[in-house]
Amino acid sequence: MKTKELICIVCPNGCQLEVIYQEEPGIKVISVSNNLCDKGEAWAASELESPMRHIASSILVERGSFKLVSVRTDQPIPLPAIHEVMEAIKKKRVQAPIVMNQVLIRNPAGVPTNIIATRSVDVLI
Ligand code: SF4
Repeated sequence: MKTKELICIVCPNGCQLEVIYQEEPGIKVISVSNNLCDKGEAWAASELESPMRHIASSILVERGSFKLVSVRTDQPIPLPAIHEVMEAIKKKRVQAPIVMNQVLIRNPAGVPTNIIATRSVDVLI
C-alpha cells in the first residue's frame, strides 16, 4: 500500500487529505483521512482512480462582434482525453449570433460532454 497527500479542490476549505491506496491490480483507494466532509473522500477516490477535469478555452467566431467566444465543458472529462477535446475545440468555427450556454460542440472527439458558450456574441453590424 502507498500513501499520497492531496489537497481537496471541491470547496475553499482545501483540506489536505492523506490517501492510502493500492496500485495492483488497479489503483484502488483504501482510506482517506483529514477530510472535513464525505465529498473529500469521494473526490480523492475519483482523483486517484479516474481523474476528471473541466476545461475552458475559446472558439473562433465568424461574422461576430467578437472574434472569439469563450467556452467550457458542461461535464468533467477524463484527464487523458483533454488533448483530443482541445484539438476538436481548436478546429471548430462557429457563426454569430451565439447565446450564453449554447452547445457549440456535442461529444467532442467522442467524449461524453458538451462544449458550451460562456458568453453571448452578436452578429457584427
Ligand atoms: S473535504 Fe469537504 S470540506 Fe474539505 S475541502 Fe473537500 S469538500 Fe471541502
